[in-house]
Amino acid sequence: MSQIHTATHLADNPVIIEMDGVNKWYDQFHVLKDINLQVRQQEKVVICGPSGSGKSTLIRTLNRLEEHQEGNIIVDGTTLTNDTKNIEVIRREVGMVFQQFNLFPHLSILDNVTIGPVWVRKMPRKQAEEIAYSFLERVGIGEQAHKFPGQLSGGQQQRVAIARALAMQPKIMLFDEPTSALDPEMIKEVLDVMRELADQGMTMICVTHEMGFAREVADTMVFMDQGQIVEYAPAKEFFTNPREERCKAFLEQIL
Ligand code: ADP
Ligand code: MG
Repeated sequence: MSQIHTATHLADNPVIIEMDGVNKWYDQFHVLKDINLQVRQQEKVVICGPSGSGKSTLIRTLNRLEEHQEGNIIVDGTTLTNDTKNIEVIRREVGMVFQQFNLFPHLSILDNVTIGPVWVRKMPRKQAEEIAYSFLERVGIGEQAHKFPGQLSGGQQQRVAIARALAMQPKIMLFDEPTSALDPEMIKEVLDVMRELADQGMTMICVTHEMGFAREVADTMVFMDQGQIVEYAPAKEFFTNPREERCKAFLEQIL
């Protein structure tokens, strides 16, 4: 594995995510192999790599949607173990946006966004609604709050999913191929919201193959193949001078 690199402007920020010698198996299948990753506050990390390389599994271990079997994962000072209290703490601090939006189809947009703050954060409904409206406005969906997910386009639904995650006021946002299920004309509107979030200083880990976005936003690039981090470098270095052949070949295919 290559050395851990930190972009210089982030070097003084505290480490908020640490993966240290992490291994995971699905039964006999070794899906994550000795993963070491360090993310500092406000850092933007983009993870890319071929399908099946373990990208989703990796980010899902960060909020314990998947368990790891070996090594340590520490998120904002909390070590991820089977202790359900720790898991609750982490889930509150880590927002996640999925490829397939995962909105509740039978709930209005407003209810999709308030459900977390009301049920998990025990926030009074009125306050949760105010917050929901403010985040829906931020992602440009304020006027659609009373519609149902099925009445919105894919791009709009994904922006709602981002607002829903933000309404929990997370410290970290994870994105798992948030634009892969979208028609091309809707990709930009979602990337614009993500870019804005990055500009506001959110700590973000994004699995994406949108390399234009990655070039603009990423501090750090990670390339995975067959369960390993094959290349791990500051974005500038990654794009100008990828060291690993597998990584070069992959970039040539998608750029
Ligand atoms: P990526 O997101 O890079 O496409 P994934 O993390 O989804 O990769 O999957 C990595 C590998 O693990 C793939 O070979 C996939 O088939 C396998 N895998 C993913 N989820 C499971 C699961 N729940 N059970 C067994 N194998 C899985
Ligand atoms: Mg995936």
